[in-house]
Amino acid sequence: MRYDTKIMPLRTPGAINEAAKLILSGELVAIPTETVYGLAANAFDENAVRKIFEVKGRPADNPLIVHTYGIDGVSEIAEEIPETAKKLFENFSPGPLTIVLKKNPKIPQITSGGLGTVGVRIPDIADIRELIKICGVPIAAPSANLSGLPSPTSARHVFNDLQGKIPLILDGDECKIGLESTVISLQNEDIKILRPGNITKENLSEFGKVIVDEGVTGELSGIPASPGMKYKHYAPKADITLIEGELPFFIYYFNKNADEDTFALMFDDDECAIKNRINFGKTSKDQAANLFKTLRELDERSIKKVFARCPKKTDEGLAVYNRLIRAAAFKLHSF
Ligand code: AMP
Ligand code: MG
Repeated sequence: MRYDTKIMPLRTPGAINEAAKLILSGELVAIPTETVYGLAANAFDENAVRKIFEVKGRPADNPLIVHTYGIDGVSEIAEEIPETAKKLFENFSPGPLTIVLKKNPKIPQITSGGLGTVGVRIPDIADIRELIKICGVPIAAPSANLSGLPSPTSARHVFNDLQGKIPLILDGDECKIGLESTVISLQNEDIKILRPGNITKENLSEFGKVIVDEGVTGELSGIPASPGMKYKHYAPKADITLIEGELPFFIYYFNKNADEDTFALMFDDDECAIKNRINFGKTSKDQAANLFKTLRELDERSIKKVFARCPKKTDEGLAVYNRLIRAAAFKLHSF
């Protein structure tokens, strides 16, 4: 089915009602969240959820995160809410934290990628929580990009990927955070980070021992705890190599290996003589907010080859590193 894709500002009177009507009739609507744009469907509706996988070209074993309007809504998604989960939701929600919990049988297998567990999140945009409340059902929503491409942080990014494939995009301007949520699972009292995000290991450690899954920084072998981690991700067409080391080493490497069309992906504070450069932020927060936009810009400018400075791996930097190393297909040169 081909749609005449409409973009409506989130604040347009009636926009939320129109989105709710579409979602309840089994259609998909792209919605802004504080992390990235999501492709929303009724999480209980198998046919609608199937459309998400088709439209994105997403592998069927990559589970969807299910969104609700508040803590009261969690029980229709998860069968059990352990004490630690309750505390974490109270502290970090609404916000960019997804907790993997035992699935409520009402959530179909297709939504959870065949797993007995489901990721639950309460997004931090009041109008979107209102939309979920009006729908009266939980909302399954992965990032609203074609599978494998960088996640969308603006309505324009969504339109570029999904034009004609969905009826409506709600435009809530640029996403504040710009990287997907932190995904965690709970093991007894311990918290395991499956995907790093804006809520960091340091933030979580107040609530228990925090373990970082080995898939977060390394290339995976075997069965991953978070199925999404095994796929090639966030990748522009440009060939990216991460260069780990101080600025002088980066400049040395760039000058030695770059050809005329190679670009440097750098931090704002780097005053240096490299002409072909794109800055994506000084702090980890800025880098997170700009990363996907910058990766899409590489393709828009037909840049073919990139050497990128390596983000720091602490605090929010770990999330930036986790996305960029995947965009670089794990190509890393360390000094
Ligand atoms: P996306 O929807 O594109 O942000 O991706 C969702 C991420 O959450 C993927 O990496 C999934 O593997 C992960 N995820 C969702 N549900 C689960 C679950 N039940 N168990 C483990 N990881 C999950
Ligand atoms: Mg995604």
